[in-house]
Amino acid sequence: MPEAPKQPQKPTEYEYDVAEKNKKTLHFIEDVTANADQVQKRVLAEILSRNAHVEYLKRNGLNGHTDRETFKKIMPVITYEDIQPDITRIANCDKSPILCSQPISEFLTSSGTSGGERKLMPTIEEELGRRSLLYSLLMPVMSQFVPGLDKGKGMYFLFIKSEAKTPGGLVARPVLTSYYKSNHFKNRPYDPYTNYTSPNETILCLDSYQSMYSQMLCGLCQNKEVLRVGAVFASGFIRAIRFLEKHSTLLCKDIRTGTLNPKITDPSVREAVMKILKPDPKLADFIEAECSRESWQGIITRLWPNTKYVDVIVTGTMSQYIPTLDYYSNGLPLVCTMYASSECYFGVNLNPLCKPSEVSYTLIPNMAYFEFLPVQRNNGGINSISMPKSLNEKEQQELVDLVDVKVGQEYELVVTTYAGLYRYRVGDVLRVAGFKNNAPKFNFICRKNVVLSIDSDKTDEVELQNAVKNAVTHLMPFDAHLTEYTSYADTTTIPGHYVLFWELNVNGSTPIPPSVFEDCCLTIEESLNTVYRQNRVCESIGPLEIKIVEAGTFDKLMDYAISLGASINQYKTPRCVKFAPIVELLNSRVVSSNFSPKCPKWTAGHKQWNNMN
Ligand code: AMP
Repeated sequence: MPEAPKQPQKPTEYEYDVAEKNKKTLHFIEDVTANADQVQKRVLAEILSRNAHVEYLKRNGLNGHTDRETFKKIMPVITYEDIQPDITRIANCDKSPILCSQPISEFLTSSGTSGGERKLMPTIEEELGRRSLLYSLLMPVMSQFVPGLDKGKGMYFLFIKSEAKTPGGLVARPVLTSYYKSNHFKNRPYDPYTNYTSPNETILCLDSYQSMYSQMLCGLCQNKEVLRVGAVFASGFIRAIRFLEKHSTLLCKDIRTGTLNPKITDPSVREAVMKILKPDPKLADFIEAECSRESWQGIITRLWPNTKYVDVIVTGTMSQYIPTLDYYSNGLPLVCTMYASSECYFGVNLNPLCKPSEVSYTLIPNMAYFEFLPVQRNNGGINSISMPKSLNEKEQQELVDLVDVKVGQEYELVVTTYAGLYRYRVGDVLRVAGFKNNAPKFNFICRKNVVLSIDSDKTDEVELQNAVKNAVTHLMPFDAHLTEYTSYADTTTIPGHYVLFWELNVNGSTPIPPSVFEDCCLTIEESLNTVYRQNRVCESIGPLEIKIVEAGTFDKLMDYAISLGASINQYKTPRCVKFAPIVELLNSRVVSSNFSPKCPKWTAGHKQWNNMN
């Protein structure tokens, strides 16, 4: 994620002393990591004393205690489902202090889902300051490795998404939408590190075509000034390149003539873009020539020749996009700067030029109180089909504090936040890579249970299984049965899409027409969660594909797994495959390929709420 403005500044600080400010920030990082344990103790005491009288803590019998020992003994380790009734009350207008003594300012809609709907994370006004603080660490860290970044601009493709209102009138929206619409972002004082090619108006335009078009146009017009490029996730940046591929003729026309595409109708966007757009036939010719070359290899370095790195998250499932980014950027460093969520912003990468496979994030101890649940992984067991299991008393005691984690060990992250989550399981699995002073650095390993992901969607095995179950009803009239299936996130297409490999046992004599498989594709899409469907509607995910494979294919798959050392007794068909030879094996036995004929239905907000847009 790109960096945000520094904390509000006095006017005298406009005479910028970048070096001095960077030094202060780095000193802050030294300080909080050296005193990680003391900071964590203080953070927990602060959260618990402020919220001593909230219903949730009283209900659990914490009785105003603020020490770690009592907290760990008394408070349960929970998942979203445990507090869902409380969240529903807040959403329905109960203003009493249920989770937090401060008023809930809005809900942040997580890309994690529960019962097919986005999770709602309550937040409070002051959390915006904490998010800004984490953003403000990023560029001082970066500038230790890449000097001169204050001398140019960042071309970041940033977007807002639609909002909904809860029945009680609270806004529910993604955390970045909340951040970009806040004064912390919109009215940021001048800072060379938050100097972007995209005017705020283009970022704050809800229409995704107008937003992307105008951001790309402004990025192209200022191409020589751009020193770094990026988006939040790798998938978003690749989408922007794809957009350029599709719309380069129109973009070049605008640059040549200095007039703006009439499809950009938002008056504030037009006004902001027109301040940047000047007729520049030479630049238009140059861009046109580069875009019409057969190969798009290195297009980023060709069009934005001063770019030093690509700032996108490529850890976790986003690692599938590394080859594509390497191709477009001619191997520029791919920089993952931070690790964050709707629940809480967690940490930063203190060695941003490291290889993507070595990225580690140092959790910043004053963001929240962090605990770690040791995870044992056997045969990829984390992703096996299971509901998140609740912990018994002994397991609850096994959670370790931030400074006590062990190098090499994997843990599930558990947070207690200022906004009123107590011992909440985030669902991410992290591995300790080392320490920065006394604060651990973590590799992001995976999100628990997620098998398929293209963009912000996170589909688990249970959802996939239910969706497939719904779809196979279309096969009944043909006396056909699904004998085995697996899935694959295909990111070789742009946008990427879900592929399901199906092996059938057909008893009926009537051949199954392609339209039936298309219906199956659509039923699966309709059955998947709201984040998947939203991504489909805004074209961040392509149509789902079902590939029918020859009879016997899944036996071959098992033979192959056994040849690689899997035990015959324990072999289970994986519900998702990633290993290239296995994908190749499946692809070599495809007899027909079928795509979803249209987008699944999606509306903003939870099913039962009114739409704000
Ligand atoms: P959301 O709650 O929708 O904001 O999504 C937050 C989740 O995105 C985290 O819990 C992670 O699973 C994932 N995520 C965020 N930052 C990173 C990162 N730097 N690397 C890998 N996954 C990330």
